[in-house]
Amino acid sequence: MHVSFYPRQGKQDQDMECSTKAHLVCMAAPAQGHINSMLNLAKVLHSKGFFITFVNTDFVHHRFLKNPESLSSLDGLPDFRFASIPDGISPFNDGDEHRQDIPNYSLAIKNNCPASFLKLLSAMNDPNSGVPVPPVNCVISDCFASFTLNATAKLGIPNVFYCPSSVCGFLDFYYCKELMERGIIPLKSEDDLTNGYLDTVIDRRPGMIEVRMRDLTSFVRTTNREDILLNLIIDETHASHQATAMIFNSFSELESPLLDACSSMLPPVFDVGPMCLLSQYIPNDSAIALFGRLNLWKEDFGCVEWLDEKEPGSVLYVNFGSMANLTSEQLLEFAWGLADSGCAFLWAIRPDLVVGGTALLPQEFSETTKGRSFITSWCPQQRVLSHAAVGGFLTHCGWNSITESISAGVPMICWPFFGDQQINCRYICSVWGIGMEINEDVKREEVARLIEKLMRGQKGKEMKKKAMEWQEKAFEAAKAGGGSWINLERLIKEIITKE
Ligand code: UDP
Repeated sequence: MHVSFYPRQGKQDQDMECSTKAHLVCMAAPAQGHINSMLNLAKVLHSKGFFITFVNTDFVHHRFLKNPESLSSLDGLPDFRFASIPDGISPFNDGDEHRQDIPNYSLAIKNNCPASFLKLLSAMNDPNSGVPVPPVNCVISDCFASFTLNATAKLGIPNVFYCPSSVCGFLDFYYCKELMERGIIPLKSEDDLTNGYLDTVIDRRPGMIEVRMRDLTSFVRTTNREDILLNLIIDETHASHQATAMIFNSFSELESPLLDACSSMLPPVFDVGPMCLLSQYIPNDSAIALFGRLNLWKEDFGCVEWLDEKEPGSVLYVNFGSMANLTSEQLLEFAWGLADSGCAFLWAIRPDLVVGGTALLPQEFSETTKGRSFITSWCPQQRVLSHAAVGGFLTHCGWNSITESISAGVPMICWPFFGDQQINCRYICSVWGIGMEINEDVKREEVARLIEKLMRGQKGKEMKKKAMEWQEKAFEAAKAGGGSWINLERLIKEIITKE
């Protein structure tokens, strides 16, 4: 087993200069959304004067090496380095299939990464290892990569967990343990999926609103008490009790009762989001301000030029994130719903979006939507959402997508796929008032109807107004001197640099 540092040949003089800085090691969970979020946090912390080592798994690192835009980011800076650890499934390319099996891949990471992370951390702390970095002061670990606890406990290094999900998503996972004890989950039989059981009201979860069973994480829809993902989310969220502190990518105004509930149960809690905005407030003279991004797919900037030609608020943006999958039937229902709505749209269809095959759209669809559609595979999402032409977002409700949408003041149509997306959707629609949900069993008529409502109806206008109010609150939190920066300063003083 090896661990790798990049770039391999350091600029030794600069390394010496940097060696007096406190060193933070940021461990990202191996998924695009988690990496984006952690990278934003790492940039912000770098701007505060820390030496950063950003750690990916070897597999993710090698995917970035294949994308020329991401490749240049990996050069890093003298005091912002990258490293990678094996995930235990090698060789890289032959392991792809295993990695698409999310439950078993997650389990493999949990089992294999404690040893490789320990090796990395030990090498960085060993003055004789030849690794040109200062000793590690603190680990910032994705809370869904709790395998880091093994190494930090052994080496006596503080370990602060970063939750890239919503607080409602975190608590939804956390309370699954209790729901299991109350006998509510897992399901008694497969029939529970269709016999009305999913409409059972779920209450008595401190900090959370009452929801229906169908609003809980999709991982509870199993009859197996030993289900890998269900048990993993319980274990991972409860591991946060062993963290030195918890950071959330959220802001007080948005998730206040949920944050209060976390504060009463967990180690010290700091909300420092939305990270997508905070990272834009890094001072311009900071070397990290112009630092690139890490994308698993190549971004298509042509879609931004296409948007430039469109009327303000006239385009619906459609994107299901980096992991969701559609069946061919679902793809067609969305496609014909978009066509029948008569609305202009920009749709990013990832090469692996459709289960078991390529996303084939009929010729007739292209003809019907000619002149008002732009289809691409991966786009610069934050730029797209901030574009004046974008009036709505049809989303799978990943937390980064939601915070980016809120930050741009764009209302949403929600089609949650899995994980925390169901509960995110409930909060979007019922608490924050900035979205409408599409039925799980998606049908073109409903898609067209909701698009019409969002883009041209009264309800759409109300949601747009609300979205802009949330946008303002997000900016208040993230601007220089705002609540999230104050919390970040507290985190640095009270936890990270505490003697
Ligand atoms: N993203 C992007 N271009 C795309 C699709 C997604 O840059 O075409 C980014 C998006 O801005 C977000 C992340 O990928 O930061 C997706 O994270 P999210 O939490 O929304 O969903 P996930 O992919 O984890 O399901």
